[in-house]
Amino acid sequence: MDTHHENPDILITGGMLLTMAPPGEVVEDPVIGIRDGKIDFIEKGSDIAGHFREAHELIDASGCIVMPGLVNAHTHLAMTCFRGLADDLPLMTWLNDHIFPAEARFIDRKTVYAGAMLAIAEMILAGTTTFCDGYFFEGEVGRAAIAAGMRGVVAKGFIDFPMPDQPGHADKAAIAERFVERWRDRSPLITPALVCHSPYTCSPDTLRTVKAVARHTGVSFQIHLSETREEVRLIHERYGRKPAQHLKDLDLLDEDTIAAHCVWLDMEELDLLAAGKVKVAHDPESNMKLGAGVAPVLEMLRRGIDVGLGTDGCASNNDLDLFGEMGMAAKLHKVFSGDPTALTAERIVEMATIGGARVLGMADRIGSITPGKQADIVLVDMRKPHLTPLYNPFSHLVYAVRGADVVTSIIGGKIVMRDRRLLQIDPASVMEEVRRIASRISEAGFHHAAGRFGAHSLVNG
Ligand SMILES: [Zn+2]
Repeated sequence: MDTHHENPDILITGGMLLTMAPPGEVVEDPVIGIRDGKIDFIEKGSDIAGHFREAHELIDASGCIVMPGLVNAHTHLAMTCFRGLADDLPLMTWLNDHIFPAEARFIDRKTVYAGAMLAIAEMILAGTTTFCDGYFFEGEVGRAAIAAGMRGVVAKGFIDFPMPDQPGHADKAAIAERFVERWRDRSPLITPALVCHSPYTCSPDTLRTVKAVARHTGVSFQIHLSETREEVRLIHERYGRKPAQHLKDLDLLDEDTIAAHCVWLDMEELDLLAAGKVKVAHDPESNMKLGAGVAPVLEMLRRGIDVGLGTDGCASNNDLDLFGEMGMAAKLHKVFSGDPTALTAERIVEMATIGGARVLGMADRIGSITPGKQADIVLVDMRKPHLTPLYNPFSHLVYAVRGADVVTSIIGGKIVMRDRRLLQIDPASVMEEVRRIASRISEAGFHHAAGRFGAHSLVNG
């Protein structure tokens, strides 16, 4: 035992540590020292804890699983404002008749900040410590994340119709460049990036322009790809080729491109992604709810493609709980392949932690509990009827744990939730703000089947 460590800022003792480095590693009764925001040391055995009575914060993890915070590889945080606004619709109807018009009318700086803050509260309460977001007014998402102590990739969004934050014909390259420069090195919590909505809402010129800026500024480029059959048909009609081939011809496929969904890619297109080392964000609940289809994740993994898990925006999910997403991903691919051995629990936890970090290009900093990495750590309380007995921690995390079982969350060495109490966010005022926004949306008649329902507040009657 090495006791020549300096006094930690935070000392976590006891419980069961899943380091995820390597992915299956389990350390019983660990002692984890955190210093200057990073993981300083990991030791075994409880006697060492006595050497560090001076630690600023002592966290007793008895009865808990201690694991890396989860990585949400694809989401649109501000869409919490539209949670439950329009359900049970196909993607194109949902987007064109409900979401795009509601965004055009209601998305502004204030709504994005409020919606993002609500999403961050929900994510921290459910064990997520890093998100990858793409939307309009993305600077507000960055500001909300910094205020909440949350880690995030914030990608400024581009689409070929007037956007809430870029009305008229703006110079996309200049806007993209300015965004990246403004957010680069602003906070260790924030990584800027760029996102084009999709090949069917962005022209070849827009796609090439935004990717070129991403490439020369060294940030990631994201895009929704082959989400529905309808998209495949549209792209074929317009360009005479398949969506991934279209992106390949535009020189968009490289290791800094993150493609979300990838439901309808065929084997040839998957080979293109693998050859380009493109990363994939898999969003099973969104794909299921919009009836989009089942992404060929087993074929992706067979080709060595890095796959992370995302919730997508919570207007199509309708929550941001990655534990639910993990269970759904595991079961979806078993039923779809007819093979219960497909995607083991351990593999799924990997996708939601170090796998997601790889997708975001952040595996050197987050995703596993290793000395030198950022201290992004969550504690999951296993002393619950639905988590008893405990034979295999990975099994419980995927098949039985819910986000609400996470008790404590640490991001960059800062405790952001302790004993289920958020320390940086006042959830009551955040919820109240979003309810006010929802009332305006409801009164304007944007609610699907409006007239039967309005925005309700159970709290204030
Ligand atoms: Zn999305």
